[in-house]
Amino acid sequence: MSNFDKEHIWHPYTSMTNPLPVFEVESAKGVYINLKNGIRLVDGMSSWWAVIHGYNNEELNNAAKQQIDKMSHVMFGGLTHKPAIELAKKLINITPSNLQKVFYSDSGSVAVEVAVKMAVQYWQSKQKPGKNKLLTVKSGYHGDTFKAMSVCDPINGMHHIFTGSMPINYFAEQPRGRFNQEWNENDISSLKNILKTEHNNIAAVIIEPIVQGAGGMWFYSAEYLNKLRALCDEYNVLLIFDEIATGFGRTGELFATNHTNIQPDIMCLGKAITGGYISFAATLTTKDVANVISDGEAGVFMHGPTFMGNPLACAIANKSIELLLSYDWKSKIKQIEDQLYKELIELKNHPKVNDVRVLGAIGVVEMKESVNMAILQQKFVDLGVWIRPFGNLIYLMPQYIIKPEELSKLTLAIKEVI
Ligand SMILES: *Cc1c(COP(=O)(O)O)cnc(C)c1O
Repeated sequence: MSNFDKEHIWHPYTSMTNPLPVFEVESAKGVYINLKNGIRLVDGMSSWWAVIHGYNNEELNNAAKQQIDKMSHVMFGGLTHKPAIELAKKLINITPSNLQKVFYSDSGSVAVEVAVKMAVQYWQSKQKPGKNKLLTVKSGYHGDTFKAMSVCDPINGMHHIFTGSMPINYFAEQPRGRFNQEWNENDISSLKNILKTEHNNIAAVIIEPIVQGAGGMWFYSAEYLNKLRALCDEYNVLLIFDEIATGFGRTGELFATNHTNIQPDIMCLGKAITGGYISFAATLTTKDVANVISDGEAGVFMHGPTFMGNPLACAIANKSIELLLSYDWKSKIKQIEDQLYKELIELKNHPKVNDVRVLGAIGVVEMKESVNMAILQQKFVDLGVWIRPFGNLIYLMPQYIIKPEELSKLTLAIKEVI
């Protein structure tokens, strides 16, 4: 590891005085990450859910190169361009039919901020300024900016450190009914009770549909979301789906929303939107939300980042969505799901393992105790794979282009370290 890096560069969620080791990457191609020391790793993380078509993809590279020769960026205030228009058409086409208005931003956390602002400005415009808090469930993850952080799990997110600086929101119990298993009405009673008593203070419910990602890699019942929609309608609360992790096929449907029979009022997209090439995000909403905001006191929606609608990111996103829809991605993800299940499920009987669960291209081994990330990370590298566990979770989030033998290398490595 470079000493300069250790001395001067902060990595995600690490200490500056006692940082975990980092591995220097020279290049990456397809499902392989090539370290500077010559070691080649099969990637099991898709660089945090994002790289769905593999690294250094020729078609995405070409899309980027072609766009860069036209323009890498122009401001979005007063100007527009084809990459942004094409992308909005695509997003409107593939997301729930009620979502017709697109707001571009530069990262997932910002897309969440934008969603929340939309919800708050919506009620403000409707002369209900008291409806300005959020309701969510425990064990969620929505990003690292302040408002997004305020709806992350209060314990995982160490909310007590930021007491005083952070907005207070409402937390219902985590949905416990598993995906595709029998529904128990009690599962939503905690959320229902909060809505019943507090709805006059609540602008929106924000939730990751079906899969709670970085907050615990948990898959819950679609029925929870169907009931949630009805409750939001009953109590006049908007529904925000954070599909930043689940979007673009990861759960076996194009969006996790498609496992349900409902539509959210606002949807956040990010991560895989550019095939993991460049930071970019979008917040989609309905005509009603957009119109109410626009006819309100401000007359406009109060947000506009410098790099909004960045043409380079839009061009890459357009190509990434085109690529995804150009093949039978659904069968491919089903194959990954079947293989993950077949190869990981035996771990369920291991004395150190609490649970094994698989959904789409996500495989999770939940240990009984927290793992030592530094030790495990090195072991995985020694085994020729890139897998980064957190807490008591060892999980796989492979790229959609992974071959069966490469996927087996990942699952074998997990069995080996356990
Ligand atoms: C990663 C993630 C975010 C935050 O996105 P960033 O691009 O890291 O800001 C928000 N919500 C969910 C569900 C995520 O997985």
